[in-house]
Amino acid sequence: MKITFLGTGTSQGIPVIGCECKTCTSKDIRDKRLRTSCLIAIGNKRIVIDIGPDFRQQMLSYGGKEIHAVLITHEHNDHIAGLDDVRPFNFKYFKDMPIYALPRVVAFLKNRFEYVFKKNPYPGTPMVNLIPIEGDSGFVIDDLIHITPIHILHGDLPILGYRIGTVAYLTDVKSIPEPEFEKLKNLKILIISALRYLEHHSHLTLEQAVELAQKIDAEKTYFIHFSHLLGPHEKIMAQLPENIFAAHDQLTIEI
Ligand SMILES: [Zn+2]
Ligand SMILES: [Zn+2]
Ligand SMILES: [Zn+2]
Repeated sequence: MKITFLGTGTSQGIPVIGCECKTCTSKDIRDKRLRTSCLIAIGNKRIVIDIGPDFRQQMLSYGGKEIHAVLITHEHNDHIAGLDDVRPFNFKYFKDMPIYALPRVVAFLKNRFEYVFKKNPYPGTPMVNLIPIEGDSGFVIDDLIHITPIHILHGDLPILGYRIGTVAYLTDVKSIPEPEFEKLKNLKILIISALRYLEHHSHLTLEQAVELAQKIDAEKTYFIHFSHLLGPHEKIMAQLPENIFAAHDQLTIEI
């Protein structure tokens, strides 16, 4: 399994437009962060988690290889705004893009991208197969890849993280209900969000993310969804315990 971080920034990305802070003016390439998304490749199957406003650019950087499914964590703009850009895959492979999400998020997407789902769509409109994720038992993509949904909280909003094999991907986390920790045992890789230093109503601070990562106790943890307020990559890395790392765009890990 190969995991590629397509984006590791929070909703505004880094640099933030017009910002002159240390992070936004850093010359370190790792301080250029597109909106958070990741690609998991298993054999010749590729799954993208979240399809934000930078999806087009992320796919161009990745090389435009076929995507077999998209998993959505929640309906916030930085996680869904790129849905229209599945069209090149529709046209090239002559098939709908399967998109998995909570039933609430499916309803939201139908409303937000109304033109995609109406009866007689305009020619060239994205072709999307929205699949609601019901219950808790997980689902299988292409008879091959078993996905376990992890029910987490983004402030008061129930959203999904995903476990695939020994990898778990949890973004926009504020808390994890106690029973879900059962699904996060024996992880090789945990990917989890860490927004900034100051308390936030719907995101973990860096300190809270470290605490949670240590409780989950994966072999290795990678942080994502950074605000420019956390400072440059080097500074974040310097504060992290041994087996916790700051991810950056284009980083690929293989397990
Ligand atoms: Zn800044
Ligand atoms: Zn969010
Ligand atoms: Zn977000």
